[in-house]
Amino acid sequence: MSGALTRLYPMVQFKKDTWEIDEFDCASMFLLIGSERALLIDCGMGIGDLRGAVEMLTDKPVTVVLSHGHVDHTGNARQFPEVWLHPADQGCHIPEALSWRKGDVEHIARRQKDCIGSPYTMFHLYPYDIEVDLREPTEPMPIVRDLTHGMEFDLGGGRIVTAYHCPGHTAGEMVFLDRAARTLIAGDALNYNLGVGAAPLQTTLKALRRIRDMAGEYDGIYNGHHDFRALGAPLDDDCLPTVIDMCERVVRTGEYIPCQVPSFWGQHVPLTRACAGESGDIFAKFGKRVLLHQGRNFLSIDPDNIRE
Ligand SMILES: [Zn+2]
Repeated sequence: MSGALTRLYPMVQFKKDTWEIDEFDCASMFLLIGSERALLIDCGMGIGDLRGAVEMLTDKPVTVVLSHGHVDHTGNARQFPEVWLHPADQGCHIPEALSWRKGDVEHIARRQKDCIGSPYTMFHLYPYDIEVDLREPTEPMPIVRDLTHGMEFDLGGGRIVTAYHCPGHTAGEMVFLDRAARTLIAGDALNYNLGVGAAPLQTTLKALRRIRDMAGEYDGIYNGHHDFRALGAPLDDDCLPTVIDMCERVVRTGEYIPCQVPSFWGQHVPLTRACAGESGDIFAKFGKRVLLHQGRNFLSIDPDNIRE
């Protein structure tokens, strides 16, 4: 990879040999280093030289897994020869269109600008040049291998990471349990502004309950973006129980009350709309949406896809 691309990702070793790499507020990547191998979870929007940054942290061979097929998790996957992705998400382009990725990156940078206010723009304070560091990949497609429920990645020294299917955000969404580090890496399966609907809500609920039932094996859940938590810090303890509670109520009663307050992402409220599916629309693949709100959690569901 060209040395001209930035490697200045904020990164923190939040547990021993366990790193969160921040792609400039766009997405989080996680690097788990064992005695024999390292596991990289997700590849961001595609800004900079991710592989170069990973190689600054470890000289072990790196296995790359993708939590799901979305644009902000596969962007730099072509920097690696092989990636693991659930078959249900393998229809997505790796990476998706540059124009789409650029629009999302700019949107995220503008959000930061709005927090700071003029005359500064966080857009220019990020240590990358969007015209250089976010690019159309020149590398060939990686080999894409089937990532499936229960698959284990043995990193050596007793560090084994297990993948679990958690469909909802996408049909192939996966989470990763690192029992040795007592850490659950959740991709976009869980956060405070969660979008689901790619599976019946009842199916998503079962998968979320499985994560809850594993609670004795981890002491922190880390989702694929740190804008709902500090870099290197887990989601707060209310997140998973609240999402489960919201899902249970809808599955049990079939009823819901659309949200009446704005979410972090500025969706219109009440959000009850069908999306056109226009390319570049962040909701394009989510179908009909209803936004719900409880406690600190926003949850957007497809009201036509509740029961199995
Ligand atoms: Zn996603």
